[in-house]
Amino acid sequence: MDSLWDFPDFDAHELVHFVTDRESGLKAVIAVHSTHLGPGAGGTRFWHYARPDQAIADVLRLSRGMSYKNAMAGLPLGGGKAVVLADAERTKTPEMLAAFGKAVNGLCGRYVTAEDVGVNVADMVAISRQTLYVAGLPVAEGAVGGDPGPHTSYGVYLGIKAAVKRALGKDSLSGLHIAMQGAGSVAGGVARRAAAEGARISIADIDGARAQALADETGGAVVAADAIMTLEADVFSPNALGAILDEASIAALNAPVVAGGANNQLADRDDGDRVQARGILYAPDYVINAGGIINVSTEYLGDGDADLVRRRIEAIPGRLEAIWDESRSTGRNPARVAGDMARRLIGRA
Ligand code: NAD
Repeated sequence: MDSLWDFPDFDAHELVHFVTDRESGLKAVIAVHSTHLGPGAGGTRFWHYARPDQAIADVLRLSRGMSYKNAMAGLPLGGGKAVVLADAERTKTPEMLAAFGKAVNGLCGRYVTAEDVGVNVADMVAISRQTLYVAGLPVAEGAVGGDPGPHTSYGVYLGIKAAVKRALGKDSLSGLHIAMQGAGSVAGGVARRAAAEGARISIADIDGARAQALADETGGAVVAADAIMTLEADVFSPNALGAILDEASIAALNAPVVAGGANNQLADRDDGDRVQARGILYAPDYVINAGGIINVSTEYLGDGDADLVRRRIEAIPGRLEAIWDESRSTGRNPARVAGDMARRLIGRA
């Protein structure tokens, strides 16, 4: 790799800001892919990377993903993301959070942050002492803000229903079998809603206790983490890791629908074609999982109430329908169709 410009996901990022704070030991990268539609918005990931170039690759990929997600959700936001390069123990100090908040503030609103992996609501409160360019803060009951997870779950649940209607002609999840990868925040919300509607849930998580707790709550069954992707089911719902759909795993899928909230599910560009070639209906991840950023956006911009958040999330199935319609008429797989739509929206057709 010769330079930053050669990273596969650099894709003409508008800004890549390297942060070093010697006193706190903070090392971070803030990336803003596009501000075509508004300030670059996306969460901060606090993670240990074996090598710094892995952190740069991660932030670029995630930041571009946020451009696409925010555009496809119809939000007046561009795309950005930050990663903090943690040590192996993922030591996080108040001084680091303060230094990070100052770095965000220094970008004068071109980047707006929120929670991502390894960052919680309390961290956002600490960061908000240094900058106003923050969302995902705690709010009073009924107000817009707080943990985006339940809103992501709601959108994913609605997206699964739309996919099931399209692929299987069913109006309800009742009696259907959902293979759930992950038992965390997003998966939990989806599983509870689907089970309440009468779906049967099989759940896998590398944290076995977490999988068991969700299974107990939803009347579901625990499945080994390495067996969930080949389980015979009506829906495979990835709600854990990214890059899980590759040549080998796609060949072994045993469900007619793949619809879940995990970011960056396709390992590479050709995997969308592979899923389509198997006759499996795919819901592009950054479209189906936009519920959380819809809540974050409404909180940050102060342009609506909880009712508007709900209505905005309920527009997700219609967007998926439009993608699947275009996919059917053009023969292009849904991931490519969604990517083209998103690029048109951010002025990069
Ligand atoms: P979470 O940390 O609450 O849950 C993730 C779960 O996945 C954990 O229980 C973890 O043990 C499990 N897991 C990790 N590797 C696994 C594996 N190989 N097999 C099975 N389980 C595994 O995270 P979350 O907030 O629920 O997010 C889940 C996914 O959704 C992530 O990809 C995230 O980027 C994406 N996402 C989340 C939101 C949100 O609002 N939380 C929004 C958009 C996208």
